[in-house]
Amino acid sequence: MNAALSLSLAAALGIPNAPYVRSRVDPSDPDSHCLWWKDGTVIEYRQGANGNPDTPGETELAAITRSAQTWQAVMDECGSLTLKEGSRTSSSKIGHDVGRADNENVMLFRTAFCTDKVGPSDQCWRLDDCMNRYDCWAYARGTIALTTTVFERSTGIIYGSDVELNAGSFVFTTVDAPPCVPPAFTQSCVATDVQNTMTHELGHLLGLDHTTYPGSTMNPSAPAGETSKRSLDPGTKQFVCDVYPKGRASRDCVINPMPAALGPAAGGCAAAPWSVAAPALLLGMLRRRRP
Ligand SMILES: [Zn+2]
Repeated sequence: MNAALSLSLAAALGIPNAPYVRSRVDPSDPDSHCLWWKDGTVIEYRQGANGNPDTPGETELAAITRSAQTWQAVMDECGSLTLKEGSRTSSSKIGHDVGRADNENVMLFRTAFCTDKVGPSDQCWRLDDCMNRYDCWAYARGTIALTTTVFERSTGIIYGSDVELNAGSFVFTTVDAPPCVPPAFTQSCVATDVQNTMTHELGHLLGLDHTTYPGSTMNPSAPAGETSKRSLDPGTKQFVCDVYPKGRASRDCVINPMPAALGPAAGGCAAAPWSVAAPALLLGMLRRRRP
């Protein structure tokens, strides 16, 4: 897809072009709560023990670690959250069960398609659970990666977030250069760069939506060979400073809106009550995919 077509598509889909755009409880309602982690949260993430069989050694796992470190560097400067890498996990399960203590934020490469592994009458389709039961990619084959975030509807507080990467369709690579020349996608050139992909997905995990702002890490398109999203653009960094200000409360965008003309309000927001016992019906689930 060329840039012009990509941009016109984005406009047609209504993707905004501010320096950063926050995800909301109701994506179609600009007045609904934004999604946010409670200030000071240590977000422990766990990479799948199997990694991606196609990438050499454990380079793909190291690339994901570097993506998290890129965000952590900005958090250290002006934010309040901590991205902490936990031990590898054998779990293939995304989602978050409120009330359970064994929830994990996982980062998984899915190498098989659910439509190849699971019969059409399997009840997992109805339950939206095939990916968990069969460790497979359950979404459109043209989607590179998908972040699933579970949050409390009444506040926008995030409970957990997981990232799946579509290794069935895409050749994930970890070298720095040169870009691959289609259709010759190998491990010795940049096809779909793991670090590029994960730095973007971690933006979703932290509560960012897509923007078409030029040069943004959160631009929805990612052509083969791209590595520019390995680093964070100024608008995306500003999101960290604005929403997770160091030493202060995280900021929703309903309780404590941020009028651009006034700049960030002092004192942070009055955080809405936190309830781990919230019934599941009050929970929402948001998925952000990359076409
Ligand atoms: Zn995205």
